[in-house]
Amino acid sequence: MNDPRPDRRGKNRRNRSASTRSAHQEATYICDSCGEEIVVPIDISAGTHQNYVEDCPVCCHPMTLHVDIDPDGEAHVAGEHE
Ligand SMILES: [Zn+2]
Repeated sequence: MNDPRPDRRGKNRRNRSASTRSAHQEATYICDSCGEEIVVPIDISAGTHQNYVEDCPVCCHPMTLHVDIDPDGEAHVAGEHE
């Protein structure tokens, strides 16, 4: 008997560049006070919208950080002068 098997290749999954599924990201903002670019670690498991105050490591000026996480998992930070 001839049993033609359907060639099941599965769904064509979009294979984006190897995504590292870490819960941490880094994002940068520019300190309003000293103009330095500050790298902050982002805990993307803490929510897609985060607001917190962090002191600038360069000039110690407190900045309010508004963190947004893309659906892609990319973090964006906007710094706001306190
Ligand atoms: Zn600063």
